Amino acid sequence: MGEFELIRNYFAAAPCAQGGEGVALGIGDDCALLAVPPGEQLAVSTDTLVAGVHFPDPCDPFLLGQRSLAVAVSDLAAMGAKPFAFTLALTLPTVTADWLQAYARGLNQMAQACGVALVGGDTTRGPLSLTMTVFGRVPSGQALTRSGAQPGDLLCVGGELGNAAGALPLVLGQRSAEPAIVEPLLAHYWSPRPQIDLGLALRGKARAAMDISDGLLADCGHIAVASGVALQVERDRLPLSNALLAFLGRADAEQVALSGGDDYVLLFAVPPSRLSALQAEGWPIHVIGSVLAGQGVTLVDSDGHDITPRVRGYQHFRETP
Ligand code: ADP
Ligand code: MG
Repeated sequence: MGEFELIRNYFAAAPCAQGGEGVALGIGDDCALLAVPPGEQLAVSTDTLVAGVHFPDPCDPFLLGQRSLAVAVSDLAAMGAKPFAFTLALTLPTVTADWLQAYARGLNQMAQACGVALVGGDTTRGPLSLTMTVFGRVPSGQALTRSGAQPGDLLCVGGELGNAAGALPLVLGQRSAEPAIVEPLLAHYWSPRPQIDLGLALRGKARAAMDISDGLLADCGHIAVASGVALQVERDRLPLSNALLAFLGRADAEQVALSGGDDYVLLFAVPPSRLSALQAEGWPIHVIGSVLAGQGVTLVDSDGHDITPRVRGYQHFRETP
């Protein structure tokens, strides 16, 4: 199968590649053309997933199709942008119809769930890697950045923490467990649900937001620096799933919730006066701490003692001490 046949059969023909709102021209020309109405800004983000680094190789291509798009769309959710389009740069060592078919099916399913149209990409031969660029729209000036948190705000997350990182021994086949534990944890890893609607609901309400991809404490550090504030996380307020607690026990579940990556839930700072309205709308919001004057991120126990761990999350290229 040649490059053009591959693009045509598996990507251009996919239901998610048939255009949509904001797509003036999709796959097939030298560029796609995207329309942004006056008064709105284009939000753009790129994510690369490399085999053996960001996902195990081999793995189920259907699940990889879902996950590769979900992690990219999550960045749009974190800005309060409405996703509408994406491109896919695919590097493949070999071309097999079964693999492509399953990958495209997973991709298509997530694309339709997120409301995004595939508008272009690139197809090359080499070690397996996937690069997604996602496009969203947001009314000018309303994007949720990392830099607006203020002392007195509450620090919140949009869902349970640690499930995806806790699932890693299951993903890698190093451990097994009963279906009631395995199924929800693997679902969090392979098909994270970008919190698009929560991001939209937080426009004009949250002062700062991001999605948790590198681990809670590490990502809190990004908001603290960008906003010029200190963040305090209360260990006993971390939302942990029953499946994670049953699989790892409380101490290890807390550890992965604090330092494991791949959660893709939103982390945000909101003034206390705006919280109850959001909760009344039914959003799954958990208050996990507070924003203070100062700098840095601290973890405290129920007595307020500082129990901040030294190592905070995953970083590529980090020097070993
Ligand atoms: P060019 O050589 O002009 O960069 P290509 O031959 O790489 O174009 O791609 C032809 C068309 O197919 C373009 O519209 C491109 O965006 C699209 N395309 C290529 N690979 C993919 C892919 N993996 N998924 C979706 N669209 C793709
Ligand atoms: Mg060209």
